[in-house]
Amino acid sequence: VVHIGLDIGGSKVSIMAQDEAGKILAYQREPIQKNYTAFLAQIFDLTKQFTDKSNITLGIAIPGRVLKGKNNFTVNPANLPFLKEKDFGQDLKAHFGFLPAIENDANCFTLSEAVEGAGKDHDYVFGLIIGTGVGGGLAFKGNIIAGRHGIAGEWGHIPLPKRRPERDGDPMQCGCGQTGCLCPELSGGGIQKRYGMLGGNASKSVEEILTDKQNGDAIASKTFDLYFDSLAENLTVLIGILDPEVIVMGGGLTHIPNLADELKSRIGKGFWTSPLTTEIKLAQFNADSGVRGALHLGKQSSSQNL
Ligand SMILES: [Zn+2]
Repeated sequence: VVHIGLDIGGSKVSIMAQDEAGKILAYQREPIQKNYTAFLAQIFDLTKQFTDKSNITLGIAIPGRVLKGKNNFTVNPANLPFLKEKDFGQDLKAHFGFLPAIENDANCFTLSEAVEGAGKDHDYVFGLIIGTGVGGGLAFKGNIIAGRHGIAGEWGHIPLPKRRPERDGDPMQCGCGQTGCLCPELSGGGIQKRYGMLGGNASKSVEEILTDKQNGDAIASKTFDLYFDSLAENLTVLIGILDPEVIVMGGGLTHIPNLADELKSRIGKGFWTSPLTTEIKLAQFNADSGVRGALHLGKQSSSQNL
């Protein structure tokens, strides 16, 4: 049996295929075709070397919400508008002969880290993504907990629980249509906003602000203090609801030096059951977690296909 994972991103599509022993048979990443017909052809082309369709499993990671029906699914990622109102699930089924397993990319990230990455020694894993946006997923004993709407662990679109104007500034507009979601506040844009609030030039990139901090700039330093405080406070609330054994962090902002330690020293302050001993770790696979998680997802669903 060949296990195939596909990670469909806003700009790239990745494939990984492994045999039963975990040996990598295919691994490729290429720009995504942004037209539905060409996109389907691209997926069929990436998987065409695995000609025995009765002997493959296939899992897919995709941004945004996946709407699952009894024997079908549809997707509508904001950054891939050509997929809107297309019968993606049925088109895949017609080609492969079975309906592939599919989850959003944060769930696939979490699954990969839970099964073989930084969370593999724990039963109960929260996968946290912080970068241009904020997302998350939950896994228990190596399985995704998707929830009724597929959004379990998707904590980006709730308001900051304890907004403080001097730390968090004015509520930001979120891509979901709401204002003040923690998604923009705790992503790269939230760092730039705080830098501007303190008198810095908010058009500087997060990378530049980070360099300033490393060069001893007081405003940049204070900016990251505010950001770490806010992120830690939000993670404390998350722990108060979900109480995972470990939080595994991935995404563009995880390259901030000492991020895990900065959070560990702040999480749980003033909490009713502090000290909190939740482990905070960086993802092992990061950029590859989506495609690896998709592969595991397909593998787990294989009993339904074969
Ligand atoms: Zn939102």
